[in-house]
Amino acid sequence: MKMKLYEEGEKSKAICHHCKQLVSTTFARRDVPFSDGKGEVKNILAAVCDVCDHVVAVPAQSTPAVREARQKEVRPIEAQLPAIYLDVLDLAAYMVDSASSTEFRKVLMTLYLHRFASGEYPRARLIKAHKSATERFKERRGAARRRLSMKVTPRIAEDIKTLMHETTMSQTEVIKSVIYQIQTDVIESHKPALMKELGALSVIYA
Ligand SMILES: [Zn+2]
Repeated sequence: MKMKLYEEGEKSKAICHHCKQLVSTTFARRDVPFSDGKGEVKNILAAVCDVCDHVVAVPAQSTPAVREARQKEVRPIEAQLPAIYLDVLDLAAYMVDSASSTEFRKVLMTLYLHRFASGEYPRARLIKAHKSATERFKERRGAARRRLSMKVTPRIAEDIKTLMHETTMSQTEVIKSVIYQIQTDVIESHKPALMKELGALSVIYA
């Protein structure tokens, strides 16, 4: 694929949505907001309208920078869970690697969320986990709750949304179900291939 590499100061032409016409543009470094208005990517090369000074286009060479900024932009995920769920998550992380930090809880959650969202783990398993979790960890009024708080990339936030949409569970229910599945696989079954894989991850991430 042939791709033109632009440099600062170069001239081009583009349709400016602000001026509503074809305008001449100059390439310059600008902070460009994301299309959804949440956050911006700093100092990328962009085509700027010579008439109104708005950014009218972002060349292909700036795409990796945009993508990277997007992934770095973290979203908070919070859930108030019966304390048992956090205990389960801590124990699972500990069983994978007794030296793992609490950060590894997030790695475990992220891996499972992504595998369920991508379909690698069947949706039916998540729904079954939800049912089992509800039966096994009965929620009594006034029982201790702990807060699970994670900062995730937009991609994982999307995974959670996908699962909520496709299972009609709330975010909290999705998280509880995922934790229940982790307890089945790691704490109860101790699946050898999975334990080996998670062990390798814990060395890298936690
Ligand atoms: Zn313009």
